[in-house]
Amino acid sequence: MNQNNPVNPVNPAVPRRSLWRRRVKKSFANMIGFKKRGANPEHPEVHVIHGPDAYKNTIEVLKSIDLSPMNGKTVLLKPNVGRMSESGKGVNTNPQVVAAAVDALRAAGATVSIGESPISGVKTLEAFKISGITAIAEKRNCPLIDLDKRKPVITPIPGGKAIQSLKICVDVLEFDFIVSIPVMKIHMHTGVTLAIKNMKGCLWRRSKVDLHMLPQLEGTTDKSLDIAIGDMATVLRPHLSIIDGSIGMEGLGPGAGTPRELNVVLAGGDGFATDAVACRLMGQDASQIPHLRIGAENGCGIIDLNQIRISPENWQNFAADFEEAPKNLTFEFPDIEVLDRNSCSACQSTLLLFLQDYAKRLAPYIPAGERLKVAIGKGHESLPEGTLCIGQCTAQHKENGIFVPGCPPVGSQIYKTLQNN
Ligand code: SF4
Repeated sequence: MNQNNPVNPVNPAVPRRSLWRRRVKKSFANMIGFKKRGANPEHPEVHVIHGPDAYKNTIEVLKSIDLSPMNGKTVLLKPNVGRMSESGKGVNTNPQVVAAAVDALRAAGATVSIGESPISGVKTLEAFKISGITAIAEKRNCPLIDLDKRKPVITPIPGGKAIQSLKICVDVLEFDFIVSIPVMKIHMHTGVTLAIKNMKGCLWRRSKVDLHMLPQLEGTTDKSLDIAIGDMATVLRPHLSIIDGSIGMEGLGPGAGTPRELNVVLAGGDGFATDAVACRLMGQDASQIPHLRIGAENGCGIIDLNQIRISPENWQNFAADFEEAPKNLTFEFPDIEVLDRNSCSACQSTLLLFLQDYAKRLAPYIPAGERLKVAIGKGHESLPEGTLCIGQCTAQHKENGIFVPGCPPVGSQIYKTLQNN
């Protein structure tokens, strides 16, 4: 193999370098054109299918979508496989939904691949394997792409309020179409994580974390993370969204919540409209989800249900009330005081899973008459003495407390560090 002209993983017949130049150029044009031509109509359609079989639901819902523009085109499926978790837990996208999307899009004449860039500390191919995506992809000879492997493309965001550029995984820009296939989840920092937020998994490696570390903008009470997702949507949003609501997640999402069976799959061309319908199915209101509201204000899509054509008529019969994320973890774990400044969801999940697994064993480490202070995130100017500092972001305070390195560390490592101090 010629190292200077490596083979393209999507189409081995095409040298990667020439393809890269051609497709990146074309994709940028696509993204800009996408915005200009107003791919989201004023009254977008969203279709919902309810039933016990996630594969059949997905095939059925895609029958309502005109897939003919994908004929002869390359399509990247972007499921949510951000964490090391088996199918059925509501953490990652159900592999049967992905399998059905591959089959339906291929039947429409598309060349389909599946790609992901997971959260910090998770290896893409390992996450694909444990999630069950590898098995369905191998059966179909469908390429799996570790989006983190190649160098990113720095993409400017004209008029960005919280961010002015993004490091987008280059593979993403080489495809003609992107299909976002998230699992329906409550998110402790963004309210929900659905088709729009799932596109954050197209950002390169740890650059995803940068969106959690932004300073608060003056003149607004919106969090910079939400504004940044709204900025991201101006240059990076899906052409088609398929939301897996077979088993979603409520409570402490996106990583440590409770699975919630809903047995729905929904799809639409406007990711915001599809998210808005999914929100209602979860008992949420999209206008109260800041990143969706901000993205809609940016002109990236429609979230007003009155403007969306939704089928079938009785779709709201499938809705449930997903439990929201607790506002304050101290209510859940009264002996623990969590000090969180600009952490990302990888450390939040680590901490939550650690507390869930180890809370009963922490009594010897809780100071008499006080709570155990636990810090995550990069934004702490100072921390009280004795604080349990979790993750590399808290390293500057390690002389002042008990420091657990890692990005993120794992629960057993946190417990071991406590035992050894
Ligand atoms: S240390 Fe934790 S909060 Fe910091 S970047 Fe790593 S995972 Fe995110």
